[in-house]
Amino acid sequence: MRPMRSIPLLVLLLAPLLGCASDVPPPATAQAPAASLATPPQAPSPPPPPDVAAAVAPAAPLSLEERVAKLQRESIIVDTHDDITTPILDAGFDLADSDPYAATTLAKMRAGGMGAEFFSIYVDERFYDHPTAHDGGAARRALDMIDVTYQQIERHANELQLATSTDDIRRAKADGKVAILMGIEGGHAIENSLHALRDFYRLGVRYMTLTHSKHNDWADSAGISPPAPKPWHHGLSPFGEEVVREMQRIGMLVDVSHVSDETFEDVLRVAKAPVIASHSSSRALCDLPRNLSDAELGALSKNGGVAMVNYFSLFLDPKVAPALGALFKSHGKELGALLAGHLKPAAAHAALVKIAGDALPRTPLSVLVDHIEHMVKVAGIDHVGLGSDWDGSLSYPVGLEGMDGLPNLTRALLERGWSDEDVKKVLGENFLRVFSEAAAFARATKTTLSGDGSTKSID
Ligand SMILES: [Zn+2]
Repeated sequence: MRPMRSIPLLVLLLAPLLGCASDVPPPATAQAPAASLATPPQAPSPPPPPDVAAAVAPAAPLSLEERVAKLQRESIIVDTHDDITTPILDAGFDLADSDPYAATTLAKMRAGGMGAEFFSIYVDERFYDHPTAHDGGAARRALDMIDVTYQQIERHANELQLATSTDDIRRAKADGKVAILMGIEGGHAIENSLHALRDFYRLGVRYMTLTHSKHNDWADSAGISPPAPKPWHHGLSPFGEEVVREMQRIGMLVDVSHVSDETFEDVLRVAKAPVIASHSSSRALCDLPRNLSDAELGALSKNGGVAMVNYFSLFLDPKVAPALGALFKSHGKELGALLAGHLKPAAAHAALVKIAGDALPRTPLSVLVDHIEHMVKVAGIDHVGLGSDWDGSLSYPVGLEGMDGLPNLTRALLERGWSDEDVKKVLGENFLRVFSEAAAFARATKTTLSGDGSTKSID
């Protein structure tokens, strides 16, 4: 701020010296008093020092690299899906570890200019289907995930800050910290209880993906690979509709990533506040049921919501699905275990190399940018954001394997002719708008969290 304020003063002082035609009035010394006649003639003024000349000269346009650095510095980069929580809980991973294959570390957060990250409170369906005395059930798994998220924030309090609102995220940025938020992946985590849903909100959870890759008791999933699984409910059951209403009433974002097309339609019919897709790419460019069709992108835009692009190359690059499909045929069990995320990233990478060698195609970053541009074309520039799926996938576009690759994405968007303002929207501002609007909707209901909460239960 200080240099900006000093410029008018400099102009005032230097205008006569520089001979520039400004609106600055002539100096008062033009009418010199008689006593000054004794003053010897003035020597010609020396040229201004170079730094002063630079301050008054019109600014030269920034180079590409300067624009990248400025955007990385000024933007609030928000990512809505990161699965590092699973190796933290299951393998004792710590964000201070210097694991080269972890996308999410403190060092990479700093290098990538990360502003806010949603840690995925991912609940594998097995915790719902087969609870055990040792591992507990689905809600207990979510609670364990939430606890290790808090643990990391407390352990690295100089660098991380828990956030549950847009204001918290902006404050963390101002404090030079990364905001950590939580989103549940898999609606089975609430064990069919709206009481549990509200408790998760109290603990700080701010979105819930209604399903993961299997149907649950009240919502159908898209599955992973085509064909989509046979429906159980043809979308949301009546209780599923109540879950969506209750989430929006209390201010928890409804996440449509992973749900079936029928569930998507039902959600948008019931929703009164904007919804999100926390990690979903474009089906027009990569035809998988997990991705969003153009019609869905259009509907999300009309709802005021936001679609966050997923970086898992399976969902971006049509060449990856056949290669991965062949690998699953020969090594399904091992790959399934890797995707479950129970190993530290370096160990998982070593296991993947052992199984796959270089069988998976390397997807260039341009393919991801194509998805972003297509989603922007269909949904509009205000309705697209970033949902990496880091540390929960098998392969990422070249240059975006970790958080430290974010400047590469910023550069790639600028190289396609994007304005700074549009880049900032996709990097985070679109999500922040939707997050604020969902919170404002909850406030406008003028209800209390539990006193006015729904007491409905599943049939
Ligand atoms: Zn997912």
